[in-house]
Amino acid sequence: MTAEVVSVGTELLMGQTLDTHSSTLGRLLAEHGIACHRRTTVDDNLSRIEGVLREALERCDLVLTVGGLGPTADDLTRDAIAAALGEPLEPVPHIEMRLREYFASRGIDWNRAIARQALKPRGAETIDNPNGTAPGLHARKDGKTVVALPGPRGEFGPMVEGPLRAILESLAGGETIRSRTLRICGLGESQVEAALGEIMASEDPVVAPYAHPGEVHLRITARGASAEEAESVIEPVERQIREILGANVFGRDDQTLETVVLGLLRERSARVATAESLTGGGLSARLTGIPGASDVFAGGVVAYSAALKESLLGIDADVLQAESPVSEAVARAMAEGARSRLGAEYGLGLTGNAGPTADAGRKPVGQVWVACAGPGGTWATSHRFVGGREDVRTRAAQAALVLLRQMLLSEAER
Ligand code: ATP
Ligand code: MG
Repeated sequence: MTAEVVSVGTELLMGQTLDTHSSTLGRLLAEHGIACHRRTTVDDNLSRIEGVLREALERCDLVLTVGGLGPTADDLTRDAIAAALGEPLEPVPHIEMRLREYFASRGIDWNRAIARQALKPRGAETIDNPNGTAPGLHARKDGKTVVALPGPRGEFGPMVEGPLRAILESLAGGETIRSRTLRICGLGESQVEAALGEIMASEDPVVAPYAHPGEVHLRITARGASAEEAESVIEPVERQIREILGANVFGRDDQTLETVVLGLLRERSARVATAESLTGGGLSARLTGIPGASDVFAGGVVAYSAALKESLLGIDADVLQAESPVSEAVARAMAEGARSRLGAEYGLGLTGNAGPTADAGRKPVGQVWVACAGPGGTWATSHRFVGGREDVRTRAAQAALVLLRQMLLSEAER
């Protein structure tokens, strides 16, 4: 089974909208073991969309389109699919009725543009769109399948997760697909791939890496006649990966790093406090984003200026005088200050230059120090992150959580 993705929209070609939907579809196809050979982006032009669809249909079994299903003159995907399949468009009575009710209830007169959304190529089925007006399309002809999905995020997402998954599962032979995501910290995507070697090339289960700021997710996907059968294919590979990557695997599926760290603190009846500079409270926001954080997160301070670092965290004026604000000494003093001043067993300190320009101390952009103070001493790590200001700040918070987790795990070993 081979597939192609066709995204439709002049705004995509002009760089006004980033084509994230194609990536989503690429991942989904890979998960279902369907090889995606090409992605095409085409502007809102009927004959060009039709041409792209014809070519794609000659080459592969399944074509997924995104966008261009709406009511406006530049929404031409429906017409292009009908033309490429050589089928006329015909109205779908139940969709038309729903649209008539919807627009009447809003006092909008019925018009030709709206009516177009109730059309489908002969022989095709519509896919319900509870979050918008234009339905999706599912057309089959001569062994080929075309699925058309709406562009708006709130319509695309639910249609992909529900109906499209079901279509792909049935195309994949009625088998059940199961997947599990292992979350990894402390290693980059290429390090993970290198460490896992052959495993990454496995076809059953499929193992696919996804890079996120400061972590890598490995999605292990298997198919089987039943869920149990698919799980039994995933399990030995998951075990193998865990053996190789060890403590770098911090969680599974939707377990975030902050959830895991808070869980470790809870097991130890310990609390953490934060002293943040470049992250401006971003780390505290992540920790307080987890329900029930209050029993293990004491609180934090945003100490941006040297004066506040001194008054709120009790950092020695001498240290602040002698050292750049972005330094190991200041990060350590911030962590220790958070721990003692805020009364927690663990303190985290974060300082760095998020850019875009080098700071007064001429620390390079992306230079970050994070420190973790605990009952057994203080640890600090230095980082040089690449990326924009937000990337650096996200990665700094991530690095602090990684460091705290390392300390908590190493204490457990002793
Ligand atoms: P509508 O009924 O709103 O016209 P549509 O199905 O015709 O929906 P488009 O008009 O092509 O979809 O796109 C609507 C919006 O959806 C775009 O402005 C954009 O924000 C988003 N969008 C469309 N295609 C993509 C894509 N490939 N990746 C990410 N976002 C997209
Ligand atoms: Mg549109």
